[in-house]
Amino acid sequence: MSELESYQGEATIEKVASLCRRRGFVFPSSDIYGGLGSSYDYGHYGVLLKQNVKAAWQRALVQEREDIVMLDSAIILHPQVWVASGHVAGFSDPLVDCRTCKLRFRADHLATCACGRKPSKLAGQTDDCDLTEAREFNLMFETQVGAVRDEASRVFLRPETAQGIFINFKNVTSSLRVKPPFGIAQIGKSFRNEITPGNFLFRMREFEQMEMEFFVPPAEADEWYRYWIEERRNWYLNLGMRGNHLRVRAHEATELSHYSSGTSDLEYLFPIGWSELEGIANRGNFDLTQHAEHSKTKLEWVGHEERFVPHVIEPAAGADRAALAFLVDAYHEEEVAERPRTVLQFHPRLAPVKVAVLPLVGNDSALVEKARALYEKLRTTMSAEYDESAAIGKRYRRQDEIGTPWCVTIDHDTLTDGQVTLRDRDTLEQVRVPIESVRGLLLDRLDEPWTPSR
Ligand code: ATP
Repeated sequence: MSELESYQGEATIEKVASLCRRRGFVFPSSDIYGGLGSSYDYGHYGVLLKQNVKAAWQRALVQEREDIVMLDSAIILHPQVWVASGHVAGFSDPLVDCRTCKLRFRADHLATCACGRKPSKLAGQTDDCDLTEAREFNLMFETQVGAVRDEASRVFLRPETAQGIFINFKNVTSSLRVKPPFGIAQIGKSFRNEITPGNFLFRMREFEQMEMEFFVPPAEADEWYRYWIEERRNWYLNLGMRGNHLRVRAHEATELSHYSSGTSDLEYLFPIGWSELEGIANRGNFDLTQHAEHSKTKLEWVGHEERFVPHVIEPAAGADRAALAFLVDAYHEEEVAERPRTVLQFHPRLAPVKVAVLPLVGNDSALVEKARALYEKLRTTMSAEYDESAAIGKRYRRQDEIGTPWCVTIDHDTLTDGQVTLRDRDTLEQVRVPIESVRGLLLDRLDEPWTPSR
């Protein structure tokens, strides 16, 4: 079986995008105006899912450790930041045009042209397509600050969150109790004028990143680099991602940026093939040195009889790309009692809604009252839904499609024996439990390690 065949009958990007739209996770942006290419708006469940992804990242990197602090820097920074970082001179992709079909490609990405042929990796080296020579195209969006539009007012929307961290190195080290090895983590929007965006949330022009810069004594850099590759891989696995769909790919020497002594991508087997999910780079002291030089500010660690420019290990992930990977990974179609069902088998911690409370029928006031009381008790500590519309089977299917791990059904027996039916999304097992124990039971399950049943 080829790797991609493991997707047979399961997720495709189109199926996932269609479910996302139908069930209110993600909508094409500016939809009523015909859409804006590769721009998406998150609906209710998508917002909750992405928030859970970011919360899980922050929990693992900040809350459950003592050596990483948070930052939320501005999106528009001083233009010199991007000169020092090398983005003004070099943050570009090689762009080629096909003279036949007028489409644009990244020369470093193999793609199929609308004229039906395959441009080769390098422009000008194929008979297939009539391609122009490659020219460099800077990916940063430009805008102006203030009323006067001139060169001095030109600024950029940040293409990554990382530089906001480097330029705050001095602020953080002089105000917070940190000492190398320590990290600064940031979650926020980044913008890139991508030449070939696409594949739903995979490559957009406006997206969210989760980046962390880990500052270490130079001699420890290699060790921490290996540590963070493993740590970040485990993060995805602990959130239920299939191990056989996740791999580490070390960059070849020719792929490395000039300052990097090592970069590894965590790649996920998307339905489009193995693609980058997150990059972990050993950036040396390049960034701090560059900013020190351009800003004429000392950016170094001075401690007990020691002084050095820390080296930096950077795990850089995308919140939207991770959300897409979790969606694809969770998507499952099956037949249950000869009826098809689509289910999102999310890790409970990622699921937008943790529990749905359902009275067996919606027109019995005693059941409704009991169900609403339980729902109101649950929603103070977890994302919960109440639903009394339609037949119970239909309500279960709806919750399966948005990935709700547990449904609690209140029936006539509940009124006499005080027990409810707890239904598991993945095994479809139904057990009777006392109504008072539901909250504690679910809170415990949310904290326990979880293994997918697929
Ligand atoms: P790619 O090779 O896919 O263009 P990159 O190597 O340029 O990605 P980085 O600069 O390392 O990406 O950014 C870190 C992470 O940010 C990526 O691993 C990805 O998850 C996310 N990311 C980058 N560009 C985009 C984008 N256009 N849309 C969505 N997520 C993105």
